[in-house]
Amino acid sequence: MSHFLRRSIWLRTIGMVREVRTRAISTEGEGHLNVECCDVVIVGGGPAGATCATYLADLGKKVIIVEKEHFPRHCVGESLLPSMMPILDDFDLLEKVEACGFPKKTGGTFIWGKNDEPWDVLFSNNPFLPHPYAYHVDRAVFDKLLLDRAIESGVDVRQGANVKDVLRDGPESDARVTGIRYTTEEGDSHEVHARFVVDCSGRPSVIGRQVTNREYDDKMRQVAFYTYFNNARGPQDEREGHVIIESCKWGWFWYIPVHGSTMGDVSMGLVSGQEFKDEYGQIGKQAFFERALEDAPYMQKLLGPDAERAQEFRAVVDWAYTCDRSAGDGFYLAGDSAAFLDPMLSTGVSVAMLAGYSTSVCIHSVDEGIATEAEAAEFYHGNYQRMYEITRDFLHYFYACNGREDKDAIFWKARNTLQMDESIAACQAFCFLVNTVPANPHPALDKQIHMYLQFMDQLEHPLAEMEKVDGKHQAQKKRDAYNEVHSMDLDTIPELNGALESSWAIDGENHRLRPVKGVEYDSNRPIFSSTSSWLLGRNLHEVSDEEADILEKMDGKRTWSDILELFALERGSDRATVRAQMQPVLAALSERGLFLERKRSGTPSIALAS
Ligand SMILES: Cc1cc2nc3c(=O)[nH]c(=O)nc-3n(C[C@H](O)[C@H](O)[C@H](O)COP(=O)(O)OP(=O)(O)OC[C@H]3O[C@@H](n4cnc5c(N)ncnc54)[C@H](O)[C@@H]3O)c2cc1C
Repeated sequence: MSHFLRRSIWLRTIGMVREVRTRAISTEGEGHLNVECCDVVIVGGGPAGATCATYLADLGKKVIIVEKEHFPRHCVGESLLPSMMPILDDFDLLEKVEACGFPKKTGGTFIWGKNDEPWDVLFSNNPFLPHPYAYHVDRAVFDKLLLDRAIESGVDVRQGANVKDVLRDGPESDARVTGIRYTTEEGDSHEVHARFVVDCSGRPSVIGRQVTNREYDDKMRQVAFYTYFNNARGPQDEREGHVIIESCKWGWFWYIPVHGSTMGDVSMGLVSGQEFKDEYGQIGKQAFFERALEDAPYMQKLLGPDAERAQEFRAVVDWAYTCDRSAGDGFYLAGDSAAFLDPMLSTGVSVAMLAGYSTSVCIHSVDEGIATEAEAAEFYHGNYQRMYEITRDFLHYFYACNGREDKDAIFWKARNTLQMDESIAACQAFCFLVNTVPANPHPALDKQIHMYLQFMDQLEHPLAEMEKVDGKHQAQKKRDAYNEVHSMDLDTIPELNGALESSWAIDGENHRLRPVKGVEYDSNRPIFSSTSSWLLGRNLHEVSDEEADILEKMDGKRTWSDILELFALERGSDRATVRAQMQPVLAALSERGLFLERKRSGTPSIALAS
C-alpha cells in the first residue's frame, strides 16, 4: 500500500474526532513522519495567529499553532490602535497589558503636509473609536502575552517548528488545502491535517505564497532602518503619549515611546525607498540613518543631547502588497500574510488581530452551517480587499499631498503622483468636505468625514486636480436636483441613496456571521472608513425586510405614484391604505438618509467621483 494511501485511510478514520492525535508512520528513506489531525492548524503565533487561535479554542475547536521562533521574539511595530482593544477585553488581558507599564497611546503627531508646524490627531477627538486610547508596546512582551493566552485556552503551540509545505487534496494547483508539513529543530518531520489551515506567518506568507498570488504596490517599495534609544529627551508636553512622524528628504521618521521595554525607551525608525539601495548598500544602514536624521530637526530635538543607542541598527523591507485570494478552499490568510501596508498609520497589529478574529468567525460559521465555505471566504476576502484598497488610497494621498518636501527629491518624486482615479476614496472625501450635500446626509458620511477631517485640513490639496473631478459644480447640481425633505408627492421619483445589498455581518456576541440586508453608500469604491469596520463586516446600513421591500422598488424611474400602485396590487389593497402603512416605514428610512427624492425637473443622479 502506498505511503499516501495509508495515510489518507488513517486520516479519514479519525477525521471526525475532535482531538489531536499523533501517529508515526515509517516511510521509505524519510525516517519517521509524524502525522496528526486537528480542526484548525495555524502557521505563526504572532498577533494574527494567537488571536485567531484563542477565539477558535474558546469555541471548542482543537487548534494547533506551528511557530518557527521561540517566544518572546523580537518584532518591529510597537504603536497600536484602539480598534484592537476590544479583543484584549474579550481575552481578559486589559489588566495584564496595563500591568506591563506600556505607555498609553493617545494619538499621533505629524510634521507633514502644508508646513513645518506639527499637528495632532487625537483619539479623544474621535467619537467613533471603540476605546479612548491604545498602547505603545514592546512587541516581544505583548506578542508573548497573546500567545500565552492562546495556550491558556487550550491551543497546542509548537515553537521552534518551521512550516515548509502546504498539503493539498490532489495534484492540481487549486486543490483543497488540507494541512501543512513542518520540521522541528531536531530535524523531525511532521504533517498536520486539518479542516482549515490559517496562514498567519507574517510577511513570509509561507502558505499564502504557495496558494495565492501576491500583488505589490509599486508606489510603496520601501525599506525601514530602525533602532532603540535610552535617555531620549522626548516631547516634554501633551504629546508624550503620541507616535510622532516627521517627513524628511529621504522619507520619514517615526518616534515611539516604549518605556520599560526590553529594547530601550524609544523606538526610532526611518522609512526610506528602495531607490537608495546602492547608497545604503555602500555606506551602511547606520550612516544612512544618521545622515537622514540631519534633515529631521524635530526628531533631533526629541532625541536630545543625552540619547544613547540601546540596540544595533536593523533593516526591514517594507513593501506594500496584497494577494488575489485571502481565503479559499480550506485556507485563510490573516495579518501580514494576506496584505501589508505602510506603517504610517500604525495599522499592522490591529489589522492582524481583527483579521484573526474575522477568520475565527468565518470558520465557526461554516462549522455551524450558517454560511457555506464559499460564502464565508467571499465575505472575508471582499472585506480584506476593501480595507486594503481604501487604506492604500489614503496613504497614496497622504504621500502625494506632503507639500513640505521638495517634490523633485528622489523619494518624493516617486510618490507624489496623485492619480485621481486611483485615489477615489480620498477624492470623494475631499468633495464631501468642500461641498457637503445638504440633501444627501448618508449615515456613513459623519463617521467618514470625521476621520478625514483630522488629516485633510493639514495636507496640501492639489486643488486644481481635485476640481477637475469633483466638485463644487456637480455637488450644486445634485443639491438642486433633490428635495430637502421627503414629500411623497405622487410625481416625485424616490431614489435609493446607495445600493441595496445582501451580505453578512459579524454577530459580535455569538462570534458568528449573520445574514444582513442593507444600503451601502457606494458598492464599488466606498469612501474611507476605519480599518476595523471593513474587517468586521461591510459598511452596510442595515434595513428590515419591510424596509428592503420598499427600497427594492425604488429603481430611479418609478414615481411614488407607481410605487403605491405596485404595493396596492401586491397587497390586494387600495392606494390610500397602502400609503398610510408605508408612511412610518418611510419616515424611518428618510431619517437615516437611505433614500432621496429627485425633483421631477431634476437631472439624473450624479456620482461625485466615478
Ligand atoms: C518598519 C515597520 C514598522 C511597523 N510599525 C508598526 C506599528 O507601529 N504599529 C503596528 O501596529 N504595526 C507596525 N508594523 C506592522 C506589524 O509589525 C505587523 O503588521 C504585525 O506584526 C503583523 O502581525 P502578524 O501576526 O500578521 O505577523 P508577525 O507578527 O510577523 O508574526 C508572524 C509569525 O509567524 C512566524 N513564522 C514565519 N514563518 C514561519 C514558518 N515558516 N513556520 C512557522 N512560523 C513562521 C514568525 O516567526 C512570526 O512569529 C510595522 C512594520 C514594519 C515593517
